[in-house]
Formats: sequence, C-alpha cells, structure tokens
Amino acid sequence: MNRGILIVLSGFSGAGKGTLMKELMKTYDNYALSISMTTRNPRPGEVDGREYFFSTRETFEEKIAQNGLIEYAEYCGNYYGTPRDYVEEQLAKGKDVILEIEIQGMRKVKQMFPEMLPLFVTPPSAAELERRLRGRGTETEEVIKSRLMRAAGEADGVEDYEYIVINDDLQTCVSQIHGIVQAAKSATARNTQLIHDIRKEIGDLSKGE
Ligand code: 5GP
Repeated sequence: MNRGILIVLSGFSGAGKGTLMKELMKTYDNYALSISMTTRNPRPGEVDGREYFFSTRETFEEKIAQNGLIEYAEYCGNYYGTPRDYVEEQLAKGKDVILEIEIQGMRKVKQMFPEMLPLFVTPPSAAELERRLRGRGTETEEVIKSRLMRAAGEADGVEDYEYIVINDDLQTCVSQIHGIVQAAKSATARNTQLIHDIRKEIGDLSKGE
C-alpha cells in the first residue's frame, strides 16, 4: 500500500480551519486529522482528545524532552505541538494526514518532510477575519488583538505555502482542498519511487530481460 502524504493546513486564526477540517473529514475517507497538544485553556464546547489534548506546561515540556512531538511552537503565549506516533501510524496506513498548525510549525515540518503539501487558508477579507474572531464570542479583547497582530505577521509568510484557498463558501473550499491534494499526490516530485520503478522495468524490458 502507498504511504499517505502529509498536508499542513495553516491560516489566520478565524479563517474557519476547524469547520473546514470537520467537513473535509465527513466528506472524504482518505484523511486523518492529527490532534495537537496545547497548553491553552479549552474554549467552551471543546473536548479533551477531540479538538486538542489539553495539557499543563510541565506535561508539554516532558513530551518535548521525550522527542514525542514532530514539531512545536509558541503561539500567543501558549505551546502547541504535533504528537509524533499518530502521524507516523496513519501515514503508514496510507492515510493523508492533515496537520492544522501555524507557520513556524509548517517550516519545521518542511525541513523533516520536504515532500509535504503546505496549504494556506484565508477568509475572503480582513473585515471578515475580524468578524469571525469576534463572532466566536469566547475570546477577550486582549486575545483578539494578539491574534490579529499575529495574523498580520503570518500574512508575510504566505508565499512559503504551495497553495492558497479562500474560505468563503464552505463546500466550495472543501472540494477545492480535496482537488489540490489529489493533484499534489500525482506530482512527479512526490512519486520518485514510482518513477524509479517504471524506469527500471522499462530498462529491463528494452534489454529483453
Ligand atoms: P487556536 O488556539 O486558535 O486553536 O490555535 C492557534 C494557532 O495554533 C492556530 O494557528 C493553529 O493552527 C495553531 N496550532 C494548533 N496546533 C498546533 C500544533 O500542533 N503546532 C503548531 N505549530 N501550531 C498549532
């Protein structure tokens, strides 16, 4: 069985990534969504082990020390990281694994897995971004300001991503992401083994072996 590909999905806080991922998982069965570990407090409605594994700083730092995270970053005063085991297991099973992480994490993942697919999702406008952040109704003014500042910083790094998608209409965006993933899986750069095998077989045939 073919190994799955690793997809990193980033986007400004308030881009609607959570909703997009839920819909993508519901619509297609080739994806596995990695659940990150974080030291931030759960928002109302978030469940430990579903949106995140919520942890103390101490437990998080132990996990770092055990090399149990593929990457981690600090974002607006909290740690966020990707547990290693789940990602490795799902890739080996042939699943396309999605990491919904921010830009520093994406850069670290790219160093380790150069063939990974980095996608950036953005709301249709800055005004819509602010409206979604506030509409959540769970964040203090200070947190909203800090996230908007962070978004301004991340906007500078968008070119590090291979694709950008606009999350205006949910279904359109979900099928666009799926289309990009399917196309990326056929990229020659992600099929070096297949190309090697074809060359070898043809070479053998042409020599009459
Ligand atoms: P939020 O607090 O809104 O759930 O997430 C804040 C930011 O942290 C988002 O940009 C999200 O993509 C990012 N994030 C979530 N999990 C991880 C992770 O495991 N690693 C990194 N580097 N960023 C993460």
